Amino acid sequence: MHMNEAAYAHCRIDLMSWTRYRDRLADDPIIFVPVGALEQHGPHLPMGCDAILAAAMTARVADALGGLQMPTLTYGYKSQARSGGGQLFPGTTSLDGATLTSMVQDILRELARHGGRRVVLVNGHVENQWFLTEGIDLALRELSLSGKAMQVVRCEYWNYTPQPVLESLFEDTFPGVDLEHAALLETSMMLALHPELVDLEAMPEDALGSFPGHDRYPQDGRGVPASGVLAPASRASAEKGALLIESTVAAMVAALGQAFSETMR
Ligand code: ZN
Ligand code: MN
Repeated sequence: MHMNEAAYAHCRIDLMSWTRYRDRLADDPIIFVPVGALEQHGPHLPMGCDAILAAAMTARVADALGGLQMPTLTYGYKSQARSGGGQLFPGTTSLDGATLTSMVQDILRELARHGGRRVVLVNGHVENQWFLTEGIDLALRELSLSGKAMQVVRCEYWNYTPQPVLESLFEDTFPGVDLEHAALLETSMMLALHPELVDLEAMPEDALGSFPGHDRYPQDGRGVPASGVLAPASRASAEKGALLIESTVAAMVAALGQAFSETMR
């Protein structure tokens, strides 16, 4: 598997002419839409991390399944303390839920107009999940009124990483992935894909977010380490990142291929 994005450019519809896109659509390809966020990821990672990683996973899966890749949605729903450190950091730039929902609904409506019938939203930002679902639901309700059918899958790429791989990456102490924001997993994947965007000298001291069972509003940053990194990142490596990406992509290809194998063709 290449770690270079240019190897996957042939799937991207924004780099394609409309006539080429029209011809590719005749084969009823799966159309992938990566979704991320602009959100602080500690002092060592770029703020586009969730969008960059969602797009990288999408590119590899789309290539393997003969699919098409839409441009990434690079803004997401508001960061929450327990999953992304919250909205108090400069740079984190978020959408209202209704905005994200409408963007998804609009894109699905357009894909249906083109004749697309099988779509996968590949999510890279925890907080987006239910707003993507809402956009899908509203789009399908609208399409059904006009007699059009579309099959849509929403997935979070991290759910496909095989458990034994996760346990091997954390070596002796596997803490679970709940606080994995800008931590070992994302840092490792960024080191594998874009080492030039990772500032290892700015890597913060290992710390762990500490949260009760509830969320407080207005957000006050309680329990969030000052760096914005919610769990230890210091043992990240490019090798771990490559293993994560390859094993996760393989599982996604199998699962998503299966998801559409018995659909209306
Ligand atoms: Zn992230
Ligand atoms: Mn995020």
